[in-house]
Amino acid sequence: MHALFDLHPTIDSLGNHHGCQVDILRGDILHPAISGNKIWKLKYHLENINNRPVLSFGGAYSNHIFALAAASKLLSFKSIGVIRGEKPKTLGYTLQFAKNVNMHLEYVSRSFYKDRNKLYQYFLNKYPDAIIIPEGGASSQGIKGCSELLKNVLEQHLYDYICLPVGTGATMAGFIAATPTFSTQIIGFSALKGDFLAKIIQGYLLDLNARNKNWQVISNYHGGGYAKCSQELVSFINQFTRKFDIMLDPIYTGKTVYGVFDLLQKEFFKPNTKILIVHTGGLQGIHGMEEKQGTPFEKRV
Ligand SMILES: *Cc1c(COP(=O)(O)O)cnc(C)c1O
Repeated sequence: MHALFDLHPTIDSLGNHHGCQVDILRGDILHPAISGNKIWKLKYHLENINNRPVLSFGGAYSNHIFALAAASKLLSFKSIGVIRGEKPKTLGYTLQFAKNVNMHLEYVSRSFYKDRNKLYQYFLNKYPDAIIIPEGGASSQGIKGCSELLKNVLEQHLYDYICLPVGTGATMAGFIAATPTFSTQIIGFSALKGDFLAKIIQGYLLDLNARNKNWQVISNYHGGGYAKCSQELVSFINQFTRKFDIMLDPIYTGKTVYGVFDLLQKEFFKPNTKILIVHTGGLQGIHGMEEKQGTPFEKRV
């Protein structure tokens, strides 16, 4: 296993807020190219590649595609990115990076992409020796990597609440499985509109024998929907960056941190408790957001 997967994220304090101690797990600075939960989710998929190509799926701004492309360069394996939608006239930051590191890109129509069975069958036929990773790294191996990460953290630190963003729910399922007792509550902040994620997570948990039922998905901080970013959120993120010297991505962690601070103000958390916010990385997505909206984000190195 490559040393990349042994990296332990640091924990920074964000100080005391409304009687609670708030820390942040810095998944964003684990590695300059592969950030946050995408490293944890790729770990077990990339364990025994044996010269096989690795194929996965994602949108044109996908953090997962970016991470896989970066990993393929670092670990010298062949990667194939199946991208949802027609090839754009000019490649955005994510796809340009993928191309530069020699990821082979395949573009498929949105309707074909939606039909998962057909999509998988088509690419299995086309690349019969490929290792196939589901979109976002949402798989049992992905969940295992996330679970392990949180177990390591909790061996050294105790928290009453662990707050993280939720996309597919794989990271959250792994986190729930990593906390055997009820004393730690896992709170997921949905990056998507709707409240279907708890059910999906429940489904993952059935396979995991997870015992901690002390978790919930909060679904009113999506800020207008997946990959939508309001001016208010941009301002919040920029203020946060100026105050703490930490950048937040506008699609996932920005919404979670916004939600946590809003809930702190509303005294949602029990007083005198310890809260860990998990920064799941994804800062490369800022480029895509700026390409789409032209909204400038504060930068830090
Ligand atoms: C992919 C991603 C998530 C969502 O993780 P899931 O395991 O799909 O729920 C959260 N944050 C960032 C930065 C991501 O890139």
